Amino acid sequence: MRAGRRRCDITLIAVTKVFPAEVIREAYVEGVRHFGENYVQEFEAKFPVVADLPEAEFHLIGHLQSNKAKRAAELFHVIETVDSLKLARRISDAGRKLPVMIEVKLSGEGSKSGVEPDQVPQLVEELHDIPNIELTGLMTMPPWSEDAEVSRPYFRRLRELAGQVGLHDLSMGMSHDLETAIEEGATHVRVGTALFGPRKKA
Ligand SMILES: *Cc1c(COP(=O)(O)O)cnc(C)c1O
Repeated sequence: MRAGRRRCDITLIAVTKVFPAEVIREAYVEGVRHFGENYVQEFEAKFPVVADLPEAEFHLIGHLQSNKAKRAAELFHVIETVDSLKLARRISDAGRKLPVMIEVKLSGEGSKSGVEPDQVPQLVEELHDIPNIELTGLMTMPPWSEDAEVSRPYFRRLRELAGQVGLHDLSMGMSHDLETAIEEGATHVRVGTALFGPRKKA
């Protein structure tokens, strides 16, 4: 690959929010195994249609409220948006060992959720002691721009931060900036529009 990365080091997460559950099944037939959903309730409704796909792994990539944490832990295989100790405890309470990532807020105008970068080391420490929580990496969403180069410093910052706290996984990059993210070390890219076309506004 152009960025000098091996294909097997990068996980493509097909983002299926807003699309019906059949879209997940169709993508699975095409070989997709990782799927991203933003809302617990939306995925809960789709789940009966996709529950029998043996190798599918569902990632929660949207903000998670504590009161939905238990349900999320039952439905998803990976929760990428942990942003507090309280939330991690609620996830743990579901009693199922789960890989999670910390969502980091790298800019004021980007996603409204996430942990401030200077609070990441402390949260990493705290999560070590929580049973059932297997912290694998960091996730971020830069402020949206048509120009993928605008995302680059945010991706770089996330990689540096992960290095500081000894975490491997970097979930960063969407349809418009996934190549930049891969150049900057993404291990997971979350791609919706480029795979499934534009989403209808809810
Ligand atoms: C919707 C969404 C994506 C996918 O965005 P596209 O531009 O459609 O590729 C990725 N990550 C998160 C957190 C999202 O909410």
